[in-house]
Order: sequence, then structure tokens, then C-alpha cells
Amino acid sequence: MKQIALYGKGGIGKSTTSANLSAALADRGLDIMQIGCDPKHDSTRMLMHGTWIPTVLDLVREKGDESISAEQVVFEGYRGIRCVEAGGPEPGVGCAGRGIIATFQLLERLDALRGDVIVYDVLGDVVCGGFAMPMREGYAQEIYLVTSGELMSLYAANNICKAIARLSRRVRSKCALGGVICNSANIAEEQALVEEFARRINSRMIAYVPRDRIVQVAEINRQTVIEYAPDSAQAGVYRALAAGVLENTGLTIPTPLEMDELESLALEFV
Ligand code: ADP
Ligand code: MG
Repeated sequence: MKQIALYGKGGIGKSTTSANLSAALADRGLDIMQIGCDPKHDSTRMLMHGTWIPTVLDLVREKGDESISAEQVVFEGYRGIRCVEAGGPEPGVGCAGRGIIATFQLLERLDALRGDVIVYDVLGDVVCGGFAMPMREGYAQEIYLVTSGELMSLYAANNICKAIARLSRRVRSKCALGGVICNSANIAEEQALVEEFARRINSRMIAYVPRDRIVQVAEINRQTVIEYAPDSAQAGVYRALAAGVLENTGLTIPTPLEMDELESLALEFV
């Protein structure tokens, strides 16, 4: 079983990329599970054809951990992909990171973490203990950073590198960086900037995903691009990403940058 996690800043395109990656992997006949670890809880929505599935945290609040069954938290979407949403606390109360920890505890108890590939879709703005959970305890062995060329998304990606580097020093740790996915924001020189960023953190850009209106059109139709427009160029990009992830042998321990290094790197590409 391969477990991978996509981390990045909020709104950068993690869920779009994760769902299309999962769909492309499922199209290859693989048994896939996708776990949304973002309080926004819309990671698996396109795989579920627009349905908002109940979140683990909502169920835990409603029923308590002990009485929840697998059928209440794991839902089958496109091509049988098993979808889970961790959810988030009620605004102003509780801690989102703890919710993710609760999700892992529940899925462990239910023995529900299985498949050929598990894709974790994780918010990376704050890499607190809870949000780092998927890369701890031997869950995700490969972390992919989703970023555009915007400084704030590179900043978030760099922070995630700090967490990976720290956790990789642990004896039992199996987590490493699998690569950088550039989800384009249509910024000039973006591809070159993200490639250079990836090189400086001791990794590589594994995919360049163009900004394409087909993503929104598929979304309005409540589907991934893979399902809605399988013959589109964008679907080809997601399929190539899926192949790249499956064949990836370039796992590294990242070397995060200092803030001034990151800023001067961004300046080089202005
Ligand atoms: P995140 O999960 O990181 O918060 P989402 O995947 O929800 O981000 O993406 C945010 C918005 O950006 C969505 O409305 C999505 O349609 C759009 N989007 C993401 N990737 C692309 C892309 N490559 N081309 C066009 N729109 C995109
Ligand atoms: Mg998301």
C-alpha cells in the first residue's frame, strides 16, 4: 500500500489536484482511498458528484467516537474510490489539528486505512502537530507540495519542508518529499521559478499543471476533469501526474530555505 499526501496553502488547488490524481489512479484499475484533511471538507466532493459527505468531526460530535461505523464515514465515489472528510471544529471552538488526529484514531480503530494508494489532501498553512499527523506515525511516506509561483504559496510549501525535515530525523519516520506540483496561477516565469524552488529545496518539479477553464467547467458539472473531459489536455496532465507518482523513485529529505533566501529567489524571477 502506497500512502501519499498533498500539502499546500489554502485555495492553491490541492483538492482539485488530489481528486483528479485519485480518479486517474482509479482509471488504471487501482483501489484508491482519498482522505480530506482540511476543515473546508470539500476534498472528495467532485469524486462524490457534488455530495457533501458527513465529516468525521461532525459524527464524533454527534455520536461520540465509539459508536461510529465505517459505513458512516467512508463513502464510495467515482470508480469505487473510498472518500473520507476529517472536517473541522465549529468556528471559534476547538482545534482543527486535533480533528485530524481524531480522524486517524477512528480510521485505525475501524481498520479502514487500506487500498493500493491512499491520497491525503492536507491543508498546509499551519503545519501544527495535527496537520503534520499524515506525515507522522508512518502514514504517508511521500509528501507532494502543491504550489503556484506566488510567494505566499511558496512560503507555505517551504514551511511544510521544515516539518518534513524535522520529522525525517525521527528514528521511525518513513516520510520524505516526493516532489513539487506547480498548479499554475498564470504568473510570468512561474514554471522556471517553481522549478528553481524545487531544486533549492533538494527536490524536483514532478508536474506543471496549467490553469485551465475546464477545471471550473467540470466543477460546475460536479465531476473531476478526468471524468468530465477525459480527452482534454488537462486530463492528460493529471494522468501524467498519476504515472509520475507511481514511478517516483526520487524521494528526498528537503532542505528548507530561510525567508530571505525565498524572497531573493522570487525576486530573481520578477
Ligand atoms: P485547495 O484544496 O488547495 O483549497 P481547490 O482545489 O479547492 O484548492 O481549488 C481552489 C479553486 O481553484 C477551485 O475553485 C478550483 O476550481 C480552482 N482550480 C484549482 N486548480 C485549477 C487549475 N489548474 N485550473 C483552473 N482552476 C483551478
Ligand atoms: Mg481543498
